[in-house]
Amino acid sequence: MKYIVLLGDGMADWPVESLGGQTPLQAAQTPAMDRVAQKGTLGLFFPIPEGMPPGSDIGNLSCFGYNPRECFGGRAPIEAANMGIALGPQEVAFRCNVVTLSNGVMEDFTAGHIGSEEAAELVGALDRTLASEFPIRLYPGVSYRHLAVIPGSEAVSADELSGMQCTPPHDITGQPWEPHLPRGVGCELVRAIIRRSQELLPEHPVSRKRRESGKRPATSIWLWGQGKPPTMESYASKFGLRGAVVSAVDLVRGIGVLAGLEVLKVPGATGWIDTNYEGKIGAALDALDRHDFVYVHVEAPDEAAHQGRADLKIQAIEDFDRRIVAPALAYLEQHPDCRILVAPDHFTTIKTKTHAGGPAPFAVCGAGVPVNGLRAYSEYEAAKAGIVFREGYRLVQRFLTQTDMDFAS
Ligand SMILES: [Zn+2]
Repeated sequence: MKYIVLLGDGMADWPVESLGGQTPLQAAQTPAMDRVAQKGTLGLFFPIPEGMPPGSDIGNLSCFGYNPRECFGGRAPIEAANMGIALGPQEVAFRCNVVTLSNGVMEDFTAGHIGSEEAAELVGALDRTLASEFPIRLYPGVSYRHLAVIPGSEAVSADELSGMQCTPPHDITGQPWEPHLPRGVGCELVRAIIRRSQELLPEHPVSRKRRESGKRPATSIWLWGQGKPPTMESYASKFGLRGAVVSAVDLVRGIGVLAGLEVLKVPGATGWIDTNYEGKIGAALDALDRHDFVYVHVEAPDEAAHQGRADLKIQAIEDFDRRIVAPALAYLEQHPDCRILVAPDHFTTIKTKTHAGGPAPFAVCGAGVPVNGLRAYSEYEAAKAGIVFREGYRLVQRFLTQTDMDFAS
């Protein structure tokens, strides 16, 4: 059996006024995802278990079939795994965004979707200065997403660093940033590092050039999502499957590394609406020649919703449908011993421009999957099914392990 998981990041949403009270999934034309629902089972699941923060880390762990309540220890150490950064036992990894602050507010947590090359130059320069002044190392990643490692010390222990309250910058778009600086024991160190970056970044030639050409400059780093590495059993031992993952995002690739999956490299995978959709699904379906399982993650719906752009979110959903889900369905036609799961990792709402938990729609079809007679992939249609997985990972575990999928119990 071949297993295909197609993950539309942040696809689920609440009703949007400008869409006449429809959600983006309802408003978008999604014939392929509707077909998955029609051919199989549509229902609801909680990718974010109740009481946990609605992050892509926890949501994607669930969609890989891991119980986040057992294995989650922070987002940044997962990204570190992808970047090949080994953490010492007393070292804590932080996600390091380069952001645009303006007039005291978090104007853009992506610094205008800064290019990876520009960002690497900035992060490299910043690392040379900061590392001489503070106990910190910086590592460049993709676009605005970078990594910082701070060792625990007598002044601030690793546990204190891990336990500090840090705010995801995408949660405070358009809001004053100062009240959201890290809090808790030892926060002075992290605050001092962030403030020092605000003296260095705006003056760097890369930032000046961006300002001159009307792009948003990187004016600060923002540290968050910190923690120690999670404890995860490999896919081979947990499910007896060999697999691969395709994603532009370090976090999802890092889960792949920690799960012992092959992380496929796809040129032009950007995490934005200009991503190389055909390259991603092509690489994934090719990988099924040598693997049992592929996970294709598309970031664009989430990013569009963070911008509060219903039009872009609909475009991202329609692109995902036509350019990712449709080719996977065509593969299923050719290879009947195969299953497809379509799901989001959490809600990203146009209304709040940020993530939310709650029951999200999933659709699954293929070998051994019953048909429950629903027509369209959306939040409302899925609620009609009377199927709710409160711990989302259990849905995925059934998808990967049950010969005949059972939704009755
Ligand atoms: Zn996400």
